[in-house]
Amino acid sequence: MAALTPTLAAARRLVVKIGSALLVDRATGLREGWLRALAEDVARVRARGTQVILVSSGSIALGRGVLRLPPGSLPLEQSQAAAAVGQIRLARAYEAVLAPHGIVTGQVLVTLEDSADRRRYLNSRATMETMLSFGVVPIVNENDTVATDEIRYGDNDRLAARVATMVGADCLVLLSDIDGLYTAPPQRDPAATLIPVVPRITPEIEAMAGGAASELSRGGMTTKVEAGKIATTAGTTMVIASGKHDAPLARIEAGGPCTWFLTPTHPVTSRK
Ligand code: GLU
Repeated sequence: MAALTPTLAAARRLVVKIGSALLVDRATGLREGWLRALAEDVARVRARGTQVILVSSGSIALGRGVLRLPPGSLPLEQSQAAAAVGQIRLARAYEAVLAPHGIVTGQVLVTLEDSADRRRYLNSRATMETMLSFGVVPIVNENDTVATDEIRYGDNDRLAARVATMVGADCLVLLSDIDGLYTAPPQRDPAATLIPVVPRITPEIEAMAGGAASELSRGGMTTKVEAGKIATTAGTTMVIASGKHDAPLARIEAGGPCTWFLTPTHPVTSRK
């Protein structure tokens, strides 16, 4: 099974989701060196003709540092204010690291309603298509400043899956601080093993996801597996990998540790 995994190199349109824990350090703020290395990895993928969309978390984590808000969960208005402060820095940071590679970026802030309402869905999709046709790399996040609890995704795993299906991406990469899906939460169970390929999301797979989330980011493995359902049902292959390395996309391509979620229709292609 492990030899028969899809390959990232085959993707023509790629959505990459970057979690807050990779991007933001609680003590020192934005991890600029890491982001510069990621930009290089993205530029390399784009140079071979793959279109890339980045879904980035981190606005609230960045904003709360700037505003010196206490650790722990924040009242809604404070997280909205933190998102406003953080998002502008986040967008600027992506522009700063991608521009030296000749890559133009554009910011897209979406809400749950943009995927629920047909007219808004088509409009968001058309905008994203136009950006891609101009060679722009869209930097997407939820519009946390105006989204209230009832009308928000809350986690960027599912948001990224919606974006990927909206633009008909071949592949969705979820970069987090864990190598992929384990048979049990590895922090709690030292005997847990990494699952390289999930051909179909079954109740057993969902049970393995558990519920671990970190303080900085909202999604744990549960939201990642939910994202997997959204993506794979619509024909987008998904891969979960650790982003804690300097070139996480190259690492996936080289056969590094990760978990692939296959689509029901997608034939399994063999690795070259
Ligand atoms: N949209 C949130 C932010 O930018 C992140 C949600 C998540 O962690 O998945 O802070």
